[in-house]
Amino acid sequence: MRTLHKFHGGVHPPEHKTESSRLPIAAAPLPQRLVVPLRQHIGNPAIPIVKVGDHVLKGQMIGAADGFISVAVHAPTSGTVSAIELHAVPHPSGLPDLCITIEADGEDRWTERQPLDYQTADPDAVRALLRDAGIVGLGGAVFPAYVKLNPDQQKIKTLILNGAECEPWITSDDLLMRERATEIVSGVKIMAHLMQPEEVLIGIEDNKPEAIAAMQAACQGTGFAVVTAPVLYPSGGEKQLIKLLTGKEVPSGQRPINIGVLCSNTGTAYTVHRAVYHGEAVISRIITITGNVTKPQNFEALIGTPLGELVQLAGGARPDTSHFILGGPMMGFDLLNHLDAPLTKAINCVIAASPALFPPKPAAMPCIRCTQCAQACPCDLQPQELFWFSQSKNFDKARAYNLFDCIECGCCDYVCPSHIPLVSYFRYTKSEIAAQDREKMAAEQARQRFEFKQMREEREKAEKAARMAEKAATAAAAKAAAAASGVEDPITAAKQAAIQAAVERAKAKKAEAAAALPPSPQPSPAGGEGVNNTEPS
Ligand code: SF4
Ligand code: SF4
Repeated sequence: MRTLHKFHGGVHPPEHKTESSRLPIAAAPLPQRLVVPLRQHIGNPAIPIVKVGDHVLKGQMIGAADGFISVAVHAPTSGTVSAIELHAVPHPSGLPDLCITIEADGEDRWTERQPLDYQTADPDAVRALLRDAGIVGLGGAVFPAYVKLNPDQQKIKTLILNGAECEPWITSDDLLMRERATEIVSGVKIMAHLMQPEEVLIGIEDNKPEAIAAMQAACQGTGFAVVTAPVLYPSGGEKQLIKLLTGKEVPSGQRPINIGVLCSNTGTAYTVHRAVYHGEAVISRIITITGNVTKPQNFEALIGTPLGELVQLAGGARPDTSHFILGGPMMGFDLLNHLDAPLTKAINCVIAASPALFPPKPAAMPCIRCTQCAQACPCDLQPQELFWFSQSKNFDKARAYNLFDCIECGCCDYVCPSHIPLVSYFRYTKSEIAAQDREKMAAEQARQRFEFKQMREEREKAEKAARMAEKAATAAAAKAAAAASGVEDPITAAKQAAIQAAVERAKAKKAEAAAALPPSPQPSPAGGEGVNNTEPS
């Protein structure tokens, strides 16, 4: 039995898991139209490599990775590209983004798929496959997996598979583990082959007995350990799960890899298996549709499916639905009623919210310094201090108090008796600091460019002056040497000789022309003028 450690803080919000976990995963039908955003991951959005009117096949790459932190996107079905334009996407900003729209032809015909023997292939070839298959962290971070699974980075001691799924209402990982444990474990084996960790731990909260049993069965003979942890939100946070399973703390400002740990999500492991064994890109995912709908359930749906169609599959939202939440109620965000926004790789849950399920928060009151927020914070921060600094726009202090360690888990909001929207303050302050940093960096780059230009101009000026001085010194030295030896300056002499030669040539030409003229008539003896009495020229 593995010893479990504790992380600071945490809360116990109502779980609401059973609503959507009673039914198995259902396959969502093929939609008529799919909208595939080019930005579904951290880093540069993919670059479109198809044009309007092109016919594409299921799984065909339609957007290529752009740079190091980027991955490809693919056609979720066969059909015709009907638009490449801005479209509503599921993002907290509510702003549209560039998407490729595909009108399905109904045939759902696959492109050629090429599996890979990862055990004999070069690790770089496996990583290139993961990049081109569009594999990203499906736990919410959507960080490109091929960048993370780089054995040239620091040596990994522990590979952790995150199956905690601690957010209330969400059950997509739970159902995936229950139904596809063998494929998940196969994906973990590929990851372990790439990273060569000393141990592999699979962390699951103990409110998922069926998933735990399925994963334990699939791990038989692998050496991987399934570790169950008591329910405590946010045990699925990366740093919190590492602390729970290993007792290690990821220092402020550092990443798990800095302490020899790499974390991945169950859904990511599943897509790694599909890519390597079946040559399939990420074109679908499991999503929980729950809350104020008549038939909450998990669906396997194609990326690009309008979220509204998925809500309809779950029986539709009840009339008293006020809004829709993407993700869980603790860390999710309001969909702003863009139900035509498509499913993306990052979206694991849509909750139809009603005033009965999510009563509006009372008006915020002043902070009473009760410190309940600090006791609940799993990152051991002082939310009340961060709130003061955010409110007073004291950004330097907020940074000094490790604002950027805040994972926006919402525990502080959840316990605050004054109902202060603390996370909103922290998000605002982070974005302000990031904007200031960007401005500072742009100013610094402009200063460096100006200084470099000045340096280059001064260097060119100095080089020109040096060349002139050298030329003058050479000429002066030659003149002085000539004077000292009594010999005429060779340069001047050469010039004079050239001039003299030119004069001689002109004279010879003139004489030649004169010789070619007919003889001049003689003047008459009478002194009268003859016909040709002009002077010879
Ligand atoms: S939102 Fe941030 S400050 Fe609040 S409890 Fe979570 S980590 Fe701590
Ligand atoms: S929980 Fe709320 S009221 Fe209490 S210290 Fe934190 S911010 Fe202030």
